[in-house]
Amino acid sequence: MRLDKPDTQGRFAQFGGQFAPETLMPALEELETEFTKAWADPGFHDELNSLLRDFVGRPTPVYRAARLSAQYGIELYLKREDLAHTGAHKINNTIGQALLTKRMGKPRVIAETGAGQHGVATATACALLGQECVVYMGEKDIERQALNVHRMRMLGTEVRPVTSGAGTLKDAVSAAMRDWVASVDGTHYIIGSVVGPHPFPWMVRELQKVIGEELETQMDGSAPERPQPDVIVACVGGGSNAMGIFYPYAGSDVDLVGVEAAGYGLESGQHGASLVAGSPGVIHGSMTYLLQDDQGQILEAHSISAGLDYPGVGPEHAYFKDTGLVRYASVTDEEALEAVYLLASTEGIIPALESAHGLAWIIKEAPSLQGKVVVLNLSGRGDKDVELIVEQS
Ligand SMILES: *Cc1c(COP(=O)(O)O)cnc(C)c1O
Repeated sequence: MRLDKPDTQGRFAQFGGQFAPETLMPALEELETEFTKAWADPGFHDELNSLLRDFVGRPTPVYRAARLSAQYGIELYLKREDLAHTGAHKINNTIGQALLTKRMGKPRVIAETGAGQHGVATATACALLGQECVVYMGEKDIERQALNVHRMRMLGTEVRPVTSGAGTLKDAVSAAMRDWVASVDGTHYIIGSVVGPHPFPWMVRELQKVIGEELETQMDGSAPERPQPDVIVACVGGGSNAMGIFYPYAGSDVDLVGVEAAGYGLESGQHGASLVAGSPGVIHGSMTYLLQDDQGQILEAHSISAGLDYPGVGPEHAYFKDTGLVRYASVTDEEALEAVYLLASTEGIIPALESAHGLAWIIKEAPSLQGKVVVLNLSGRGDKDVELIVEQS
């Protein structure tokens, strides 16, 4: 059964919880209290909803992909999160948390970012609300993602290079944690997916579930052109876009499918499929499925798409997997790349590499989906990936 909220320990059955330093416990408690209050306050929703409408451009459309539908014998619809401001669903979460930061009276926000997408979404929300913003980013990622670094700086954010470790996301997370421990009185840490210690997975799900709630009204079966979905498909990195579209449907008869990155193939060991090929353990403050070796050391993930290149996954997905509320599958880098070209050349939409994983699964499974109404959460647009795609092809 779907849970409205995790239990008092922040757990979805055995998953989730608060594996965090003692010094952060009061901040996590304060965050839960403040978010609970804000979420029960119609004034907070009014302010959030008007920003989602006028600044982000919600509701995002649902588009019937007519040519692909005809080609594959399925009724394929796209939930167009790629049309949200800054080009992906991440802004739904950052605007909500930035508003909460203002409500808590904290003037400063920190975040960490790998590819820079969450950093840009955070920088955007902070510029909008006049908040000081520092984004931690591994120095290797700063080199690889120059465009997003420029975008963050233009938005008035300080991008702080992290030189420790491998200079990638894991090191940036540690640096952001260290900052938060020292600055928690005046600083909020905006986590970018349904991951981290409680209350983050729950709070980010609440902020992203607008995607699925919109879909319920957009495809309510009230007219032939708005049939109810049979199947809903979304890619899973940390799991926020998938959680956002799945949650309102979890426990209904709609078939929910989360698609992880199989990278070079599951057998290669180089992938990001923590639900499909991982095992339970603790990562970034919560108990969930993750990629680990026999000694419990966390393994490096691999995916062609930076957003899916993560060795863990949100704890509520772990719960959904074990209860069978959602099924999880995976597709390789190569299959995702093909799907990018397919959507671009057939429908005139260049998807993010992450979102292309969902489409690749649909294409692969088309024989078993004949005549079905299938909705793909098109989590983001592909402009950010064009250079990489052309290099790889
Ligand atoms: C970041 C990102 C993802 C992966 O994050 P989730 O939390 O799993 O949604 C997926 N798609 C796009 C376009 C992204 O930018």
